[in-house]
Amino acid sequence: MPSAKRALLLFSSVFVGAPALAANPSAFPEYVQRVEAEFATESDAAAAEASFSPLPNGARYAFFCRWDDNRAANVRKAEMMDAVGVKGTFFLIGGKSAYLQDTGRRLVALGNAIGNHSLSHPSNMDTLPPNEVFRQILLGRIGVETNTWWTVTAFAMPWTRWCMGDPKRHGLFTRLLANTGHLWNDGHDAAHFSANDTAPDPGKFRAGFAEATARAEESGGTISADFGTHADCDEAGDTVQGRCIAENLSVGGAWRTHANAFAAYRYSSRNGRIAVAGRDGCTVAFDVVRFPPAFLGDQVPVELVFSRQPQTVRCKTADVRPVGKGGCWTLPHNRGLGMPHTIQGVTPGWLGFDVDEAAGTVRIALPSCAATWRDVCAVIMVPPMWRRGRIVAFDGGTFQLGDRSEDPVDFEGIRIYAVSVDYMDEACVPRRVWSVLERRGETPPFVSAEQGRENRHNAAMVRGLSALVAATALDSSGLADASRILVWHLTDLHDVGFRWGSDIVKSSYWRQTGISDWRLRGRPPGGPLTRPEGRSPAASHVVGPSLDATMNRDTIGCA
Ligand SMILES: [Zn+2]
Repeated sequence: MPSAKRALLLFSSVFVGAPALAANPSAFPEYVQRVEAEFATESDAAAAEASFSPLPNGARYAFFCRWDDNRAANVRKAEMMDAVGVKGTFFLIGGKSAYLQDTGRRLVALGNAIGNHSLSHPSNMDTLPPNEVFRQILLGRIGVETNTWWTVTAFAMPWTRWCMGDPKRHGLFTRLLANTGHLWNDGHDAAHFSANDTAPDPGKFRAGFAEATARAEESGGTISADFGTHADCDEAGDTVQGRCIAENLSVGGAWRTHANAFAAYRYSSRNGRIAVAGRDGCTVAFDVVRFPPAFLGDQVPVELVFSRQPQTVRCKTADVRPVGKGGCWTLPHNRGLGMPHTIQGVTPGWLGFDVDEAAGTVRIALPSCAATWRDVCAVIMVPPMWRRGRIVAFDGGTFQLGDRSEDPVDFEGIRIYAVSVDYMDEACVPRRVWSVLERRGETPPFVSAEQGRENRHNAAMVRGLSALVAATALDSSGLADASRILVWHLTDLHDVGFRWGSDIVKSSYWRQTGISDWRLRGRPPGGPLTRPEGRSPAASHVVGPSLDATMNRDTIGCA
């Protein structure tokens, strides 16, 4: 049997296939669990309905600690949390592979989650062009995953530059985070408090804890309560923090978790679905729609609540059991569905991963050893110039990228394409591989009529201005400020600045240089113009390191 066909056939034995998008905004694969509940009487069975508990175990709110940046003191923080029985989420910088492979893995071993804190922690996420924001988010996630083998679904914004007051920029962040598989972020999903990271203050902790947990509770489990920001204090400070956590959490009501488990539970309980499949005497069969744990970022079970209390609840593919006194039943994922044991970067060539921007297509051709894989699911993540954002595929093939963005700024800078492929290997071990492609330089031209008009207008403008400059024989040293700006555009930014006209110069790149409008008259704020580093604006947007050699394997143990 051809390899691709075999992978598809085996896949379809577990997942139900194309997800119902309306109830599954991340378009994760879905599978169904059949659950049979036995009631004391037929009338109970006739009336019984099932739903998801908003939080597990009757908890009123979810609580965890949150620590940012790749710090040496993070390990001591993890030991402090371990001693008082809470978990943390460490938001780490994805471009630092040595730290991730050493400290990152130790933090995971101590029961914590790892989140994405971008590729290189730029201080200007609020002004970077969309492609660079996308690159920071996506490569940050891939860097953390391939070095720690932890599945990343949580994101904390460097310098908390969330741009809450700028709907366009804020919308860009939330769209790109969703497209890159993030389910939790520090801008929307937490009631956060800290109590002086350097010299912990018990009074401030008490007040912050009360406020944050009240907000989390009011949200009905929609947001978590999280404490901390930076591992800044000494060992004595850690002891104070540990005592604060233990004393305040002792009141009860907390689900002691981390960002991944919280986000996985929330996604499952809000986007999963339960339907009655049949009623027969005292027995009711329910079909529960679930999402595989590798995509949710955690294996946390869901909890079912029945409107009439059943005597027993069974599932052939998972071990259901009652929990607490609230009549909840905990339903784990199907046996055999788990988190990836390894997460590795592979070369695009090995995975047959390629993109043709002119044709608007992206392709994956799985290697021959994929013939032994089961439950293959690829998620292709594409840069902001494509409206589609992400493509979920259950086999190799060529996929249409669809409509392009109409915002010129989405075409500026390096464009990153990435694919994650989840699969079960021949020994039924879940694994994930990542591959990344870069595209630089000019994108193929727009086709929309409106854009065509703008291109022609801009081209005419370039010709006119070039002629003007040539005719007046001015050089840059002798020009008035306004003209100097024009010449600077003509020499350095001809391709971008003039092709896209005023829109591009209103973009973040120009704000960085102090120019908010190319038609600016007089000296721009911040003194005389200076040329940006590098030849082209695209090159000057590259911030921080690229992924290192851990991303460039030609094989992952099979030919
Ligand atoms: Zn930070």
